[in-house]
Amino acid sequence: MSHKLIVQKFGGSSLANVERIQNVAKRVAGYKKNGHDLVVVVSALGDTTDELIELANKINTEPSEREMDMLLSTGEQISVALLAMALHKLKVEAISFTGLQIGIITDTSHTRARILKVNTEKIKEELQKGKIVIVAGFQGVTPNQDITTLGRGGSDLTAVALAKELKADECEIYTDVEGIFTTDPRIEPKARKINAITYDEMLEMASLGAQVMQARSIEVAKKFDVPIHVRSSFSQKPGTMIIREVKRMEEVVVSGVTLNKNEAKITVCDVPDKPGVAARIFNELSGAGINVDMIVQNVSHTRKTDISFTISKAESVKTLKTVKKVAAKIGTGEVLMDDDIARLSIVGVGMKSHPGVAGTMFKVLAENKANIEMISTSDISISCIIKKKFAETALRALHGKFGLAK
Ligand code: ADP
Ligand code: ASP
Ligand code: MG
Repeated sequence: MSHKLIVQKFGGSSLANVERIQNVAKRVAGYKKNGHDLVVVVSALGDTTDELIELANKINTEPSEREMDMLLSTGEQISVALLAMALHKLKVEAISFTGLQIGIITDTSHTRARILKVNTEKIKEELQKGKIVIVAGFQGVTPNQDITTLGRGGSDLTAVALAKELKADECEIYTDVEGIFTTDPRIEPKARKINAITYDEMLEMASLGAQVMQARSIEVAKKFDVPIHVRSSFSQKPGTMIIREVKRMEEVVVSGVTLNKNEAKITVCDVPDKPGVAARIFNELSGAGINVDMIVQNVSHTRKTDISFTISKAESVKTLKTVKKVAAKIGTGEVLMDDDIARLSIVGVGMKSHPGVAGTMFKVLAENKANIEMISTSDISISCIIKKKFAETALRALHGKFGLAK
């Protein structure tokens, strides 16, 4: 086997307990014995990040984002040290580093920082000495030495960025499923593994809720043409390749169904229907760093209208506060929040050339008694907001209807 430089990333599920950490060490050591150079990126053990967020919220419901990053980055620091120890135990040379030590330089937007520069000297130096280099995922540091994190699922981004900068031969993302499936296999056991998927489809699926890959990591992979191999840390089987183009004899119309339960819907009632009002509301939100997703404004018959939009649940406290303030200044009616919703989406490049896909989707939702509260479409996806209680049954129904089930 020829010598390769491989970047491997192991997610929290692959490191959830002592046995699993030992399993990862064994796997990594095996690649090393075969003569490869390895850079291993790890996430926090199991649900550590969620637990840390919960802990922070018990202390302060609006924690400073700088301190949040200081806290969350500790999760990955635990993982790198333990994996290094597990490798030492196997008599394999390995050394761990934090994002700060490597020099993963980011901007200052705490909790969702963007990578500006990745230094690779230290990694190369240690690889030269024959060591496996273990890097804490999800974290970076500002030019001012403040610790930042790269957004949820950000270890995927660390891995892709390192693979790009190091010109790695392979970038492998190890997780607890055998690859990318037509839908979340935990919700639909009939989901099928996809052998290869394009960056565009994966990006759409990730943005719409398939948490298996972080959307931003796919953006970077696409920009720099980094092929990604998503596979299971519990099996030797090949997983899914995420690449630029996939040659299929006939285009499939829908390639995946996704579900996102992490959004909340905000409705501003009785908004005066005149120019500039929407601008005021949404400029205020963007000023507060809040990412708004689907937006719907009803047609007005009375010179007043309702505006609804969705946001990430994690930002609901901040959003409500911001919207209520500007709503009072404008003189609107009530501001309502509903977090009992789910976004159900279908994704597929084949949709571009197939009419009637939306109609089919709406019909399936109707058959499942799910009222559609909001709709949004892109070139290669259709999303509906429905009540959460209908989400999983509707997902399975759509998955079957579009011919994706095993
Ligand atoms: P890790 O800890 O490895 O980062 P994640 O929990 O972030 O793992 O992502 C893996 C999970 O993503 C799987 O267990 C699966 O339930 C979920 N998932 C959602 N959609 C999909 C999909 N289309 N294909 C595969 N997994 C999916
Ligand atoms: N531990 C971080 C998270 O849970 C990063 C990651 O898992 O990729 O979001
Ligand atoms: Mg993940």
